[in-house]
Amino acid sequence: MELTGVARSYRQGAAALAVLRGVDLRVARGEIVALTAPSGAGKSTLLQIAGLLDRADAGTVRIGGVEASALGDAARTALRREAVGFVYQFHHLLPEFTALENVAIPQRASGAGRAEAEGRARALLASVGLEARLGHRPSELSGGEQQRVAICRALANRPRLLLADEPTGNLDPATADVVFGVLLSAVRGQGAGALVATHNPDLAARMDRVVRLDAGQLI
Ligand code: ADP
Repeated sequence: MELTGVARSYRQGAAALAVLRGVDLRVARGEIVALTAPSGAGKSTLLQIAGLLDRADAGTVRIGGVEASALGDAARTALRREAVGFVYQFHHLLPEFTALENVAIPQRASGAGRAEAEGRARALLASVGLEARLGHRPSELSGGEQQRVAICRALANRPRLLLADEPTGNLDPATADVVFGVLLSAVRGQGAGALVATHNPDLAARMDRVVRLDAGQLI
């Protein structure tokens, strides 16, 4: 993923709040980059633009060499579905579906057959230690288990890029530590690039590189 000169302001009545003021960032395939910043500095804004959920006012966003800024809405959505996986602070799993189904559904939506989707879901869930929880619904899982399922769901379609916004922010420190290790090894196992927002310096130090968002720019 490559961001060049990305700028984004929010209108507040007559005033404009400039959150990103020319962000340049490249995340190579297989590289895991920590994004740190104080709360309100624009981490979520940056991740949403990088993940094609929001548009920058200026600058370019490239994923896998494709310049997303030049695409229309349908093509952007297709690129996002194919190339990007998201993990949020809260799991956002579908409550009425099992762990297995939550990981299979995005694959089905992208055209995989049922057996193929469920086979990959089973393998991913086993790789994060959840082989005995395949039939559990989210409410029947612990917070750490829910996030492990969310990590598998994000990786289900083999994205080139994983974006994570405080992925262990809701967990107690010991569970966060374990789930973070699961996230790193799952991303490395897939060979994806990742940009992971965290305000936890210990977790940031476990990634390949740390960038800090300050006054709308990366340092
Ligand atoms: P972070 O994720 O680092 O906490 P955000 O990207 O969520 O920061 O927000 C950055 C700044 O932009 C904050 O000051 C926030 O209040 C403001 N902001 C975020 N979204 C909007 C919006 N839709 N409209 C107006 N201001 C917003």
